[in-house]
Amino acid sequence: MTASPYGVHWFRRDLRVAGNPALQWNWKQHQGRVLGLFTFDAKFLARPDFSPNRFAFFLNTLRSLRDELRSLGSDLLVLDVGPRDGWSKLMAVLDNAALPKPTAVSFNRDYEPFARQRDADLEQWIPLTFGVEVHHERDHLLIEPEEILRDGKPGQFYQIYTPFSKRWFAQLPTPEIQQRIKTQAKGLASFDQRKKGPADAALFHQTWPQLFTEGVPLTDQLEHYAAENNQRVTVPIPPAGSAVALERLRTFLKSAVKAYHERRDLPAVDGTSQLSIYLKNGSLTSGQILAEMQGAGVDLSRKDGPTTFLKEIAWREFYYHILYHRADVENAAFLPRYRELVWENREDWFDAWKRGETGYPIVDAGMRQLATTGWMHNRVRMIVASFLTKDLLIDWRWGERYFMEQLLDGDLAPNNGGWQWAASTGCDPQPYFRIFNPKLQSEKFDPQGEYIRRYVPELRTCSAKQIHDPHCTGAKVSYPEPIVNHADQKERALALYRGVSE
Ligand code: FAD
Repeated sequence: MTASPYGVHWFRRDLRVAGNPALQWNWKQHQGRVLGLFTFDAKFLARPDFSPNRFAFFLNTLRSLRDELRSLGSDLLVLDVGPRDGWSKLMAVLDNAALPKPTAVSFNRDYEPFARQRDADLEQWIPLTFGVEVHHERDHLLIEPEEILRDGKPGQFYQIYTPFSKRWFAQLPTPEIQQRIKTQAKGLASFDQRKKGPADAALFHQTWPQLFTEGVPLTDQLEHYAAENNQRVTVPIPPAGSAVALERLRTFLKSAVKAYHERRDLPAVDGTSQLSIYLKNGSLTSGQILAEMQGAGVDLSRKDGPTTFLKEIAWREFYYHILYHRADVENAAFLPRYRELVWENREDWFDAWKRGETGYPIVDAGMRQLATTGWMHNRVRMIVASFLTKDLLIDWRWGERYFMEQLLDGDLAPNNGGWQWAASTGCDPQPYFRIFNPKLQSEKFDPQGEYIRRYVPELRTCSAKQIHDPHCTGAKVSYPEPIVNHADQKERALALYRGVSE
């Protein structure tokens, strides 16, 4: 057994090795003797918005991370308890096996309300209880919430996207941000394996596999969870991991980003990056995206595809900042006046929406895309969210929850932001009186009905003219009649919102 000091890197939303700032710190500190750790609270599996599909993708991401770590002579331990219990458990098994404790633990910062509390607690508790140093870095966001403030004043965060994004873009060329981008651009080669000596190999290959919990080696826990979860998976799970994410980014930058501004709103075409699932887990970060774009010589002064794409990345960071500054949005409207809205919440309408049987083809196509693939195109997310809140008069939180149950990219900040935008309750939202007309949206963004035909087979025989409103255009199809009349519901929605707006 070796007594060489070693570190533990606690992975959370940074599920990759390359360009991982806190892991790099630890690796350097311990000349490559770093063990990866992931703890997840098994209680999380009982959450009402738990998604077995997303969990399957997540476990595959952990597998790929474990393989990356193994290729570097390290490994990944997985514990199925909350982090406090996890640390106690890990220290206990190390004690029982008479193995040395790590000298430092590193992690990258997370910004969700629960995560911030957890990290603040552990940052104090770990050094006090175990005498282990804690070190953290930025990773998930390119620019952190305290770094873009109006007039630089504490707490004065941007509540409107446009000035926020102007500041976000203005900071990109600064040496500080360029340094961050450079750090995240570092690949596996930055982990110098030659520094590892024979003593280290003993630590990785002989000691860690001895760590068990309930009879299962900690390095095998992953397979244990995957075996149980796989039976509950209902959609095809896309390939996971940082190499896949980087490959997908590169393909997108080569083939689709140029026309992104023209094609991103068309659900029938493959015009978006489909990177959201990788960004959520930190298989990929905004810093890496910037690095790849800069490496490809993209000119960000032009208002074309690449800039439009980066504006979406900035939207993502914007919603993270909002959640950071206003943790209450997790449960309530950002705009206090809309907390008074009295939703009708008809369960039968909600069920029809979930099943994709509202009688509105574009809405039904979107809901069926979600149920069969675990993903939905952004334009259609906006349409179905508007329909749920403003046509069916159902609380946006019901929709938000259902999306979290279904989406492979389900992520609190952008999901909450997207829902509150559509429901007009959020910061910088769609004004309440702008109510999407599903038929017009359908005609505009899926003019030939290709997207609808893909997900609503009952309408495959409809012409491009009929497909947006099959019953009114006399199509002979076995497809539900509209469950509501859009024009009537629009008036009711306006009355509902006016009641608390004026
Ligand atoms: P691209 O068009 O290629 O965009 C690139 C990246 O920018 C995305 O991967 C994503 O990280 C970010 N992005 C794009 N659009 C938005 C947006 N409107 N808001 C914030 N970030 C954006 N995104 C999630 O990642 N998780 C969610 O749970 C989620 N829920 C949503 C719910 C609603 C009601 C709405 C309207 C939007 C939601 N979005 C969510 C945002 C957006 O729909 C997805 O990020 C996008 O469709 C993912 O596909 P893509 O990777 O091909 O996006």
